[in-house]
Amino acid sequence: MSDWKKRTTLVHGGTRRSQYGEVSEAIFLTQGFVYDSAEAAEARFQNLGDDEFIYARYGNPTVRMFENRIAQITGYEDAFACASGMAAVNGALMALLKGGDQVVSSRALFGSCLYVLEEVLARFGVEIILVDGTDNAAWEAAITDKTTLVFLEGISNPTLEVVDLEHVVKVAHAHDALVVVDDAMATPVFSYSERYGADFCVISTTKHVDGQGRMLGGIVCGSKEMIRGPIETYLKHTGGAMNPFTAWVQLKSLDTLDLRVRAQAATAMQIAEALEGHPKLNVVRYPQLPSHPEHAVAMKQAPIGGTVVAFEVKGGKEACFKMLNSLEVFTISNNFADAKSIVTHPSTTTHQRLPQEQKDALGISDGMVRLSAGLEDPEDLVADLIQALDKI
Ligand SMILES: *Cc1c(COP(=O)(O)O)cnc(C)c1O
Repeated sequence: MSDWKKRTTLVHGGTRRSQYGEVSEAIFLTQGFVYDSAEAAEARFQNLGDDEFIYARYGNPTVRMFENRIAQITGYEDAFACASGMAAVNGALMALLKGGDQVVSSRALFGSCLYVLEEVLARFGVEIILVDGTDNAAWEAAITDKTTLVFLEGISNPTLEVVDLEHVVKVAHAHDALVVVDDAMATPVFSYSERYGADFCVISTTKHVDGQGRMLGGIVCGSKEMIRGPIETYLKHTGGAMNPFTAWVQLKSLDTLDLRVRAQAATAMQIAEALEGHPKLNVVRYPQLPSHPEHAVAMKQAPIGGTVVAFEVKGGKEACFKMLNSLEVFTISNNFADAKSIVTHPSTTTHQRLPQEQKDALGISDGMVRLSAGLEDPEDLVADLIQALDKI
């Protein structure tokens, strides 16, 4: 039902019922499927359709419900679910590129995405050009008729840079380049990739979709022709498929996704407002704060600012660690979008591997903290942050 609103689709989209008429979506923990006859097996191999499964690496009924529901929410025609966000990113890029192609990408990327571009794809002769994703002129200068594909994070992790997607898609399509958006930060509910014409969006469902820190997952969304064409072909033969148990857990998580993300985003905004201007901090970054450099673009693209806030503690690593170690409600970890609020020190953990000049270029300083707002009472979270800053 394509005219349902998102919250209805999140609960009902793509549901299939077995002959038992179960209320809660069934989990099909099966690798394979049986056929009534040898002829039926032959026919099914010749003629794979939506309802015809042959092997779980290719597709599974629980996984297909999850794929259909996410496709409906993001606005794309179809989707292929993967074992993790990185299986989805790697799968999409490997399926679409070949030696001699050129990729133009924003520089502010998740560490593993940078590895796939700079180490894996480059090894197979794909040319990689990195640009400042917030600089529209830089995209215009870099994207030419030689460009095969444009890759970017709509909102970058951890520095929360926001790309003007409408502009980048226009420039890319004028040169016949495909656009792949890593939408981990935007979440499926607030993804605007399809609205601005991006050919694909790739989402780590480990983040907001699971939302309770339990299991890895990822998904590639696009047109039916591309998903059931090159994307599925590559992924089904190379083993990146999501397992049915993950699909079932994350399908059930979609029931509450909109409610959780809105609550966590409201808390993130409350924290950002409480921290901005604090004497122990240099800067607070959150797309919904008017002080954010891409505030106008961010608010044009999505009604919320996301669930992550970044800030810089004065006094570098020592002061920053003192503050992190004084927190009582927040957990020190490296995931985000969990029900539990999390703080991360990217410079010494997720982005430790990067050379100093790259950290400087990305704005990942010694005092920088990435904060993920959870589902606790926002007043407890603000009080916890203030008491920890007082300890410095
Ligand atoms: C977490 C993340 C990924 C990778 O997802 P996994 O599920 O951990 O493999 C990719 N891109 C971005 C922007 C992420 O935040």
